Amino acid sequence: MKAVHYHGPRNLELLDIPKPKAAPGQVVVKIAYCGICGTDVHAYSMQGIFNWELVLGHEAVGYVEEVGEGVTCVKVGDRVAVGPPGDCGACYSCNTGNPNTCTNGFPNTLGIGPNTQGAYAEYVLSHYPQNELFKIPEGVTFEQAVLFDVLGVGFHAVRRSDMRVGDNIVVSGCGSIGFSVIQVAKLAGPNNLIVFDPLESKRKIAKELGADYAFDPANAYDVVKAKEILAQANGAQVCFEAAGHPSSIDTCINLCMPSGQIMLIGNDGRPYQLVTAALGHHQYDLKFSFTYTKEEITMLFNLIKSGKLDTAAYSLLKAPLDDAINKLEELATGKLEVARVLLMPNGNI
Ligand SMILES: [Zn+2]
Ligand SMILES: [Zn+2]
Repeated sequence: MKAVHYHGPRNLELLDIPKPKAAPGQVVVKIAYCGICGTDVHAYSMQGIFNWELVLGHEAVGYVEEVGEGVTCVKVGDRVAVGPPGDCGACYSCNTGNPNTCTNGFPNTLGIGPNTQGAYAEYVLSHYPQNELFKIPEGVTFEQAVLFDVLGVGFHAVRRSDMRVGDNIVVSGCGSIGFSVIQVAKLAGPNNLIVFDPLESKRKIAKELGADYAFDPANAYDVVKAKEILAQANGAQVCFEAAGHPSSIDTCINLCMPSGQIMLIGNDGRPYQLVTAALGHHQYDLKFSFTYTKEEITMLFNLIKSGKLDTAAYSLLKAPLDDAINKLEELATGKLEVARVLLMPNGNI
């Protein structure tokens, strides 16, 4: 079968590798779509993301093709999502309600961990189907379900934050993750939902998704206007950083109310200088959010099914697996601007 093997930045290869076979306890999934995640684009273009060999692809959907002896959680033909962060179910994080920070499972996650075989391939082998496969409910399409990674990150961040109904909220960065944060924060009942992005096109979509105000962070007049809206409490209760850019962290700090919370979602490799005197005087609460949990995937599918989460705002571009490397290059060089490229390793299935 065909698979896109990662050797290092700008060093990928479309290879023919053996089709996996399900041993007892394992499941083979035939891939319908695999999304090209921002993490894949970073790994393609930058050193230091994946320092190991692997087949990329950690956000995929498909049909159960083969079920190993003893597997009861899925059956042949089931529609499933594959590849949420793996967890071992046994470590301290797993046992204390934080499986997304499992130290054993994440390195084993398909398409992320060293030498794993992800879903830039016709088939994937799930070693831990109980932890890695999620049945897609009827009424949720493959095109919607494949957004679980994009939606999950924003969903988890809002649930992990201290946001309460009636709060003023800032979201800095209107990429795919920012769109998810905007939608989920809107469901949680904010007073003013103020978003920032340098691109007019993104600000327009943000407003369609429920933002009350969409501003340009580089426009001083816009920042003043946001401060005026937030003047009563001297800032927003929670500011979500979803751009992964140092200047976006500054926007959050600038607009957070004293004793408010800054939720950092966009993990970025660049150093950021924290001036503790400036932050400490305002008693800010800095918090990080990382991926999402299995329970949250189920919740997301329910919200998509009931129409409470909108997936139409995410622009999708379908492409054959043979085109994966070209698409990574186009995404890395900014020639392509879509929420997700969906690779179709088995054509239209
Ligand atoms: Zn991803
Ligand atoms: Zn664990």
